[in-house]
Amino acid sequence: MVHQPLVGQNALVTGANSGIGEGVARALGAAGANVVVNYVTAEDTAERIAKEIAAGGVETLALRADVSKEAEVAAMFREMCSRWGTIDILVNNAGLQRDAAFVDMTLDQWNLVLGVNLTGMFLCTREAVREMIRRGPRPVSRATGKVICMSSVHEVIPWAGHANYAASKGGVKLFMQSLAQELAPHRIRVNSIAPGAIQTPINRAAWDTPAALASLLTLIPYGRIGVPEDIGKAAVWLASDDSDYVHGQTLFVDGGMTLYPEFGRGG
Ligand code: NAD
Repeated sequence: MVHQPLVGQNALVTGANSGIGEGVARALGAAGANVVVNYVTAEDTAERIAKEIAAGGVETLALRADVSKEAEVAAMFREMCSRWGTIDILVNNAGLQRDAAFVDMTLDQWNLVLGVNLTGMFLCTREAVREMIRRGPRPVSRATGKVICMSSVHEVIPWAGHANYAASKGGVKLFMQSLAQELAPHRIRVNSIAPGAIQTPINRAAWDTPAALASLLTLIPYGRIGVPEDIGKAAVWLASDDSDYVHGQTLFVDGGMTLYPEFGRGG
C-alpha cells in the first residue's frame, strides 16, 4: 500500500519548477498533498509540473511570485487561500547563487542573494504563519502547520568565493531556530533541510564533466551525488506527523559532506 501521510493538506513550494523544489513538489503530491508550484520564470515548466503532479489525484496550482517582493508574495498566498481555504505546509526552497571573489563582489550580487535566499524566506513564512495562526488546528495533522526551510551544508561549512550565499544560509539557521522557539506554542513546526551536493542546474559546473564530478566526489564520503528525490523524501517526512516531535532542527541530507571528509584519510 502506498504511504500517503499528507492527504487533505495544502502545500506551497517556492521555486518549484526546477531542481530540488520540483523534486519536493512531486514528492509532497505523491504523499497526498495538494501542491502550489511557485515559479518566477519559465511558466510553461511550472504548468507542466503542476499538471503531472495533479495526474496523481491531488489538486495543484502554478502561481507566479518573486519571493523577494512583498506584494507578489502576499498576492500568491491570497490566491492559494481563496482557492483552497488555507495552507498547511510551506517549503521555502527558492534560492540562487551569485558567486564572486569577495573583493569583487558587487552590492547587487550581495543584495540579490540575501533578498531571495533570506528575505524571501521571511516574507513567505510570515504570510503562511499568519494564516496558520488565524485558522488554528485542523484535523489533518497534529501540528497547526509545518514550515520547512531549504538551507544548505553551507549553514555550517564556510565557503570562499561565496560569502553572500554562505551568509544567507547561516542566516537561515538562526531564522529557523528563532521561529521554532517563537511558534512552538502555536504548534507550528519549523525545521530545515540542509542538502549537500544535489544534481540540479544551480551547481551544473560541479558535475557536468567527469573531472568536475570526480573532484566533487572527494567531498562526499558516501560516494555519490545526491538527487532531488533524496530531498523530496526528507521533506515528506518533515511535513508529516511521522516527525511530529521534531522541531527546530536541521536535517542534513548530504552523503556525509559535513563529516570533514579529509580527516577520513587520516587528517
Ligand atoms: P535551481 O536553480 O534548480 O532551483 C532554484 C529555484 O528557485 C528555481 O526554480 C528558481 O526559478 C527559483 N527562484 C530563484 N529566484 C526566485 C525568486 N526570486 N522567486 C521565486 N523563485 C525563485 O537550484 P536548486 O539546487 O534546486 O536549489 C534549490 C534550493 O536548494 C536553494 O535554496 C539552494 O540554495 C538549495 N541547495 C541546493 C543544493 C544543491 O546542491 N543543488 C545544495 C544545498 C542547498
